[in-house]
Amino acid sequence: MGYLETSGRVGRLRCGMPRGYMRQNCRICERHVSECGDLSKRGKCQDCALALMEANAVGIAAHTGPFFNYWRERMAASVGAKILDDRQDAA
Ligand SMILES: [Zn+2]
Repeated sequence: MGYLETSGRVGRLRCGMPRGYMRQNCRICERHVSECGDLSKRGKCQDCALALMEANAVGIAAHTGPFFNYWRERMAASVGAKILDDRQDAA
């Protein structure tokens, strides 16, 4: 009997960690919790979370880097536009 059969109704598959099992390694640096301390709900240690947050803030403020490009693409997509200067086939 699988998860879907025991639920008694149409279930859904979960994509995340199973409940009741605590993550033991950071998702980014893969250090064990004994080395890096507690992990966030998303599975990041404090060092990685702060580094990502700083890179995100600096990148968006300076208009450079992958976080800014992602933000720019998503802002364009929110109004139905597409950024043409990043296309590979543009000549
Ligand atoms: Zn980490």
